[in-house]
Amino acid sequence: MIAYVGIGANLGDAQASVLDALRRLALLDGTAVIETSGLYRTAPVDSSGPDYINAVACIDTTFDPYQLLAVLQEIEQAHGRERPYRNAPRTLDLDLLLYGEQHIATESLTVPHPRMHERGFVLAPLAEIAPDLVIPGVGPIRDYLPLVASQAVDKIG
Ligand code: ATP
Ligand code: MG
Ligand code: MG
Repeated sequence: MIAYVGIGANLGDAQASVLDALRRLALLDGTAVIETSGLYRTAPVDSSGPDYINAVACIDTTFDPYQLLAVLQEIEQAHGRERPYRNAPRTLDLDLLLYGEQHIATESLTVPHPRMHERGFVLAPLAEIAPDLVIPGVGPIRDYLPLVASQAVDKIG
């Protein structure tokens, strides 16, 4: 299944953490990284602390959504992810943005990610690799990008 993963970090060497996460995605069983966005420096949205480094990866995976969530959380744990409070600064966050066109709404997993369309740090890297993408149940990302234009998002390099 084609899935999109949102990656973010703002503690420690955030850029190195995001790049390591991309490497680890490519090493997962039954998973190929189809495309990765560039890296973006973004101001915290719904969070606090230093600027974030964000990216989005498109993967093709044989994991089901819950298996994928579990391996994403293992990668976060490898980077010492702690959750002292909601939206706290973090060493690494890997969110499952989209899993094919599936809608999932359970206690542990909501897909499409329910806040992705409000976030420039998701939409900008996502639009780079999938400009024509439609978020199931929401709409074309093209329509949502202008709404987040006030959020500071700068592509690195
Ligand atoms: P946000 O979801 O607003 O980006 P966050 O990424 O900081 O916040 P986390 O602390 O990483 O939130 O995750 C909290 C819980 O969210 C996880 O335990 C996980 O079960 C749940 N969750 C629900 N839907 C998703 C999803 N699509 N991707 C990742 N985690 C999800
Ligand atoms: Mg998140
Ligand atoms: Mg998360």
